[in-house]
Amino acid sequence: MLTTKSIGNAYDVALENFDTAADAMELDKDTREMIKYPERVLTVSIPVKMDDGRIHRFEGFRVQHSTARGPAKGGIRFHPQVTLDEVKALATWMTWKCAVVNIPFGGGKGGVTCDPKNMSRNELERMTRRYTSAILPLIGPEQDIPAPDVYTNPQTMAWIMDTFSMIKGYSIPGVVTGKPISLGGSLGRNEATGRGVFYTVESACEHLKIPLKGARVVVQGFGNAGSVTAQLLHEAGAKVIAVSDSNGCIHNKKGLNIPELIHMKTLTGRVEGFPESETIRPEELLALECEILVPAALENMIHADNAGAVKARLVAEAANGPVTPAGDRILEKNGIFLIPDILCNAGGVTVSYFEWVQDEQHLFWEAQDIYKRLERVMKTSFRDVLKIHLERKVPMRIAANILGIGRVAEAVQIRGIYP
Ligand code: GLU
Repeated sequence: MLTTKSIGNAYDVALENFDTAADAMELDKDTREMIKYPERVLTVSIPVKMDDGRIHRFEGFRVQHSTARGPAKGGIRFHPQVTLDEVKALATWMTWKCAVVNIPFGGGKGGVTCDPKNMSRNELERMTRRYTSAILPLIGPEQDIPAPDVYTNPQTMAWIMDTFSMIKGYSIPGVVTGKPISLGGSLGRNEATGRGVFYTVESACEHLKIPLKGARVVVQGFGNAGSVTAQLLHEAGAKVIAVSDSNGCIHNKKGLNIPELIHMKTLTGRVEGFPESETIRPEELLALECEILVPAALENMIHADNAGAVKARLVAEAANGPVTPAGDRILEKNGIFLIPDILCNAGGVTVSYFEWVQDEQHLFWEAQDIYKRLERVMKTSFRDVLKIHLERKVPMRIAANILGIGRVAEAVQIRGIYP
C-alpha cells in the first residue's frame, strides 16, 4: 500500500474516542460497560479450492457490536490487512454511525483477510460463499445485515444473498444491502457514501463560509467513496487538484478532469499516468494547499507525525477512522474543521436502510426520492452534531459521538437487562 504509512490499532482508537465522549457527556459507569464492547464476535476458517487445485485457508470475522436499536448493520471488507481488532473497531463505529443518522440499526462489521486483487473471480466467489455459510447463524434481515465495504461490491452481495437464500430455501433479498438493482437493490446505493459526503461538505462549507465553487479539493483514496465524492464536488464547481490510490498520487494545480480520471481508473485500475498530471509522494498529497481534504482510504492515515503538515481548512472523513486521536488534537489546534467519519460517510448506510425498507415492503422508490431523503438525513444530522459542537464547545468528533452514544445509551437504559 503506497499511501501514507498507517500507525496504531484501530480498535484502540475506537475505545479511546468512546471514553473521551463518554467522559464529556458524564455517562454513568454501568451504561458504559453495557454499550462499549461488542455483543458477539465470530472468527471463521474458510477453506477455498484455488484455481491451481490447491486449498488455501482464509480467516474471516463477523462482529456484532450492538443490536440495542435494531439489527446489526455494517459492511464486509476483503483486504490483506484485515484483523479482528480492525473489524471490532469498524463494528463499533457502525453502532454510533447508525445512531447519529437515527436509523433503526445497531452496528456490525465483517472481514476476510485476503488479497482480492490477486484472486480470480471464481476464487472470490468460492471464498465469499464459504464465508457466508460460516457466518450464516448470525446474519438475516432481522438479525444482522451485511453490505459492501473496502474491495467488496454489489456482485459480492449477490453471492451472499444467493448462498443465504439457497440454504434457507427461498429468496431473501433483505439479508444484504448494496445488492445489484435486479436483485432488489436500491437506486442510488452505489453512489450513496460519496453523495452523503458531498451533502455534509456542502453544509460545512456553508457554516465556514467557504464557496464550494473554485474550492481546491484533495482526495486520498479513489475507490467507491473517494471517486463519487470527487465527481460530485467537481460537478458543483470545486477544483479537485490531487487524488491518490493504493498505487500512486497525482496532482494538477489547475484541477483534474474527474470524469476522465474515473474512466481511466475503471479501465486500468490506477490513477497514476493520467494525462496532464504530475506524480507526487503520499506525504506531499496530505500537505497540499487546499480548502477541502477528503481522506477516503483506510484507518490511521493522518496521525501525530503528519497532521501538522495538513493545510486544508476542512477535513471530510469519507473513510472510517482515517485520523488518530493524536492527529485530531493537532488538526483541532491548527483550527481545521473536521466532519467526523460517523457523520460524514453515513450516507452509505442510510441508503442501505432505504434499501432494506424497500425490500421488506417489496415496493421500490425513485432515484429522486432517495436523493431527497438522503439529503434531508445528512443535513439534519450535520445540524444536530454542529449544535452540540457549538453549545458544548467540544470538537466535532466528540459532538458526533455524544449524539450517537447518547441514543444507544438511552435504548439500553429503557430496555434494561435480560433476564
Ligand atoms: N461499509 C459502509 C460503512 O462503513 C456501509 C455499511 C452499510 O451500508 O451497512 O458505512
